[in-house]
Amino acid sequence: MTNKLVSFIKELYQTDEFIPLHAPSFNGNEQIYVSETIKSTFVSSVGKYVDDFERHIEAYTKSPKAVATVNGTAALHAALYMAGVRANDIVITQALTFVATCNALHHMGAEPAFVDVSPVSLGLCPKALAVFLDEHATLTEHGAVLKMTKQRIKAIVPMHTFGHPVELDELMLICHNWGISLIEDAAESLGSFYKGQHTGTLGDFGAISFNGNKIITTGGGGIVLCKTLDSGARTKHVTTTAKVPHPYEFYHDEAGFNYRMPNLNAALGCAQMEVLSEFVKNKRKLAHLYSDFFSGSEFKFVTEPDYAHSNYWLNAIICPAPQVREALLKETNEKGVMTRPIWQLMHRLPMYKNALKGDLTYSEYIESHLVNIPSSPVKSLAEV
Ligand SMILES: *Cc1c(COP(=O)(O)O)cnc(C)c1O
Repeated sequence: MTNKLVSFIKELYQTDEFIPLHAPSFNGNEQIYVSETIKSTFVSSVGKYVDDFERHIEAYTKSPKAVATVNGTAALHAALYMAGVRANDIVITQALTFVATCNALHHMGAEPAFVDVSPVSLGLCPKALAVFLDEHATLTEHGAVLKMTKQRIKAIVPMHTFGHPVELDELMLICHNWGISLIEDAAESLGSFYKGQHTGTLGDFGAISFNGNKIITTGGGGIVLCKTLDSGARTKHVTTTAKVPHPYEFYHDEAGFNYRMPNLNAALGCAQMEVLSEFVKNKRKLAHLYSDFFSGSEFKFVTEPDYAHSNYWLNAIICPAPQVREALLKETNEKGVMTRPIWQLMHRLPMYKNALKGDLTYSEYIESHLVNIPSSPVKSLAEV
């Protein structure tokens, strides 16, 4: 299988050189826009590209207000702050995620609690969440609290793993019943839609990343999607040092963040947004080819849930056994085709090892069986 897979991927990408998991593509107006910022001298936190980029994202996602930030972790941090998460609160998330999800809430002084992921989406499982809350939480006049410690359960942060949207209706209903906020970690899911609505726009806040390996990049960058114009204006304010506008006076009305995306990065983002739809189409075609390739084999190709239209940011396969996975990882990487295991579960990391957790059987299964395979847009599939 490994040899067949390696030649299949080398043929797709038409190269004998090393094939990374995900490389950015710059075939549009990137150079022009970035040069313009340098010529204008407005490379930093003021400039037209930041506004243009935010308007691009709003138009694409139909978010009422998008606020660009220095990276996706900062976007999550600001979203949690805006949702009212504070020190000592509990925030429920998945153990199967990239560490930034947990770090953002940790930096807020909050503590994570881990719930299993769903076989449908590989993201936070509504059934597991309901079981966890029934067992550990009680509803008081101040909202949901942990029975054991009386800590407030302020929010859940589901993550759309590899771009595949989580079961949002079911999660939103649970949040509504328990009075808990929902913040979508949509870092990987720009271009992914849940029942026709863009991911990150259904929860109270959503956070997207534009890191170099994501579907589009600004070098480093992120954005907070806000549900109302009002929360959008507040988010902009707290991510720009909470400075009260004035031609020359410095007055800040709260301890804000300096999280604003520089104009230089936003220029790159504007050019990338012009080709995002092409990227999504290309990556969906690639996923289709992989799906055909693995059909009938002992490897299960991870596909989007029925209700979703995924960006297929990173393609993934589930191996029949951990030993098969180890062999596949070793052989493909030796042959110049990058493959990668999924993240280690968050409760295995020293800073989160004491977190409260529900049953994590499916997360553990995925942790030991899943491999990501090359997912950059493929030139021969479309002009990108
Ligand atoms: C990439 C990513 C982030 C963080 O984004 P940065 O821009 O790298 O800070 C957060 N959560 C998930 C799930 C990610 O994949």
